[in-house]
Amino acid sequence: MFNDLEKEIKRLNGQSVSVPIESDEKGYIDKECPSAECKFIFKVNKADWANIFKDEAVWCPFCRHEAPAKQWFTTEQVKHAKAEVFTVVKGIIHNTLKSRAEKFNRSQTRNGFFTISIEVKGGVKRTYPIPVKAAESMRLEIQCEKCQSRFAVIGSAYFCPACGHNSVVRTFSDSLRKITAKKDSIHIIRKTLIESAGKDEAELVCRSLLESCILDGVVAFQKYCEGLYNRFGEAPFNSFQRLDQGSSLWRSAIQKGYSAWLSDPELAALNILYQKRHILAHNEGIVDSRYLEKSGDVAYKEGQRIVVSETDIDILVSTLDKLSKGIKEMCDNI
Ligand SMILES: [Zn+2]
Ligand SMILES: [Zn+2]
Repeated sequence: MFNDLEKEIKRLNGQSVSVPIESDEKGYIDKECPSAECKFIFKVNKADWANIFKDEAVWCPFCRHEAPAKQWFTTEQVKHAKAEVFTVVKGIIHNTLKSRAEKFNRSQTRNGFFTISIEVKGGVKRTYPIPVKAAESMRLEIQCEKCQSRFAVIGSAYFCPACGHNSVVRTFSDSLRKITAKKDSIHIIRKTLIESAGKDEAELVCRSLLESCILDGVVAFQKYCEGLYNRFGEAPFNSFQRLDQGSSLWRSAIQKGYSAWLSDPELAALNILYQKRHILAHNEGIVDSRYLEKSGDVAYKEGQRIVVSETDIDILVSTLDKLSKGIKEMCDNI
């Protein structure tokens, strides 16, 4: 009987056991960035994975790490597959031993003084793998504007996993979502920090979070404009960091400046926020004569420190959203 087992083991050598991967209820399969620093988990549409994705390169939606398609199994899938292969091989060996033992026992004659019987315990063992279950579906589903592949993430994604394309429009709307989420979380963060670290730390962190929203918004809009402006040539360095300069660049490119989409009070409010960003970045937030002159802000005197309120962030998000949509519409029609 051990010859049979040896034969079976030889037969198994070099064989492969395929462990199927299930898709979730929306038809998406799990993937994980193979970069050790990233390990970002996302999902791709199963049909698109077969039809649009290429074997030679897949990109991480978060860090743009590039690797062949076969390297994107999740840690969970690999763990499950290894366990399944072990179970299947164990099952095959067990079943071979069991059937040979039965054959051996049947062949024993009962005429002699004693008989030998061999017992292999347990019933028939599983010789097929159980598919890897899909993780819970992800809410944020994205379709690449360039290659049309569909993928899903938690939080945000910067790159298409099928073609590596970075969507300026999506990145910008993700940034606005992030800013709003930061602002909306301030109260929970403050409450938690007061309990764990004390009032001073809580105030410090929450102030800095709100201030970072202005910086995030200005930089996001700058990148958005640079991306869309590309087709008209290269804009002078950092010009989209300044409202008046950005507006006049658009006016010459698409015949509309920022006043086409924002009212005078909205423009004035956005200008104050741009100037606040400037002194936060370059003067520790302390008001100087240049700020007073450029912003027209009458709420401060020189030497004061500016305050960023939640209303400021609401104004920032709503005005930048209006500008971005207006610019996009004009660019699409050119
Ligand atoms: Zn990554
Ligand atoms: Zn794509």
